[in-house]
Amino acid sequence: MKAIQVKQTGGPDVMELADLPIPQPKANEAVVKIQAAGVNFIDVYNREGRYKLALPFVLGQEAAGVVSAVGSEVREVAIGDRVAYTMTLGSYAEFAAVPADRLVKIPAGVSEREAAAAMLQGMTAHYLSHDTYPLRKGETALIHAAAGGVGLLLVQMAHHIGARVIATVSTDEKAKLARAAGANEIILYTQADFEAETKRLTNGKGVDVVYDSVGKTTFEKGLNLLRPRGMMVLYGGSSGAVPPFDPITLTQKGSLYLTRPSLGHYIITAQELQQRAGAVFGMIREGKLKLRIEHVYPLAQAAQAHRDLEGRKTTGKLLLLPN
Ligand code: NDP
Repeated sequence: MKAIQVKQTGGPDVMELADLPIPQPKANEAVVKIQAAGVNFIDVYNREGRYKLALPFVLGQEAAGVVSAVGSEVREVAIGDRVAYTMTLGSYAEFAAVPADRLVKIPAGVSEREAAAAMLQGMTAHYLSHDTYPLRKGETALIHAAAGGVGLLLVQMAHHIGARVIATVSTDEKAKLARAAGANEIILYTQADFEAETKRLTNGKGVDVVYDSVGKTTFEKGLNLLRPRGMMVLYGGSSGAVPPFDPITLTQKGSLYLTRPSLGHYIITAQELQQRAGAVFGMIREGKLKLRIEHVYPLAQAAQAHRDLEGRKTTGKLLLLPN
């Protein structure tokens, strides 16, 4: 089968189109014939070696397709089921072996492409807005990179809850998308000082929560924008990692809360995974959550997909198609 393999970490050029054997399922695994694989920023971190993985590895942590084989102990799914998954490495490929208790059946009314687009970023937006800081009607959230993959979904969920959303983006085109997703205020943070703008928009009161996936270039200013006892949810570092941090800063800036969450800890049990995925698929079916799948590449062009994602050229979701 064709797969995108990394033998040494580095820039997009380290991604090689390899010919590998189709994986055989272990007793607890199912093999998925992949129809669409999601591209996520974490794939960039893995490729670069920011997160350490044993080499060589097949990139990718999100896909949807059809079960083509099952191990002897698998009861959750059967051959022919339409399934989706995330957080298991190896999805930039034609086939992947996945623990069966990590698979979610795709409901009728949701396509494989939609499922591949929703698993990682949709469940992330869901846990951020419903569990990490459960947003309430009337509260104000600052959401960075609001036209990105997670960003557009998080803005929609916050909007549906009834929160006021202040969104940052880098271009006018992205501003339009964030507004269409439900953002109340947009700041072009590459042109204006988002700290001064957010203070102005909140009459100096600050926001209840900052959802920050940009990291290095935004984190410190974000802390200045929280109301007393507000929460900084730092969930990524698209601009680079945040430098070491002294906890006393949280006291000085208003007894703030800081968390650095990861999706894996919000889908620990099979039950939580099924519930969260079910909630996201439910929103898609009801038309409450619109997916933007504008960037679709053949598997062989995975390196280009990474260049576009890192180059801030994309909005919404990027997918790779093995066939
Ligand atoms: P995005 O589609 O959001 O792409 C990244 C965006 O970040 C860009 O489009 C860009 O938007 C913005 N950005 C700001 N500064 C930079 C920079 N210097 N270089 C590149 N991009 C920059 O990606 P994803 O939706 O896949 O992921 C978003 C973030 O969320 C990532 O940091 C990822 O690691 C994190 N994440 C965390 C999860 C968790 O559970 N903790 C789960 C999923 C994602 P603009 O041009 O508008 O500035």
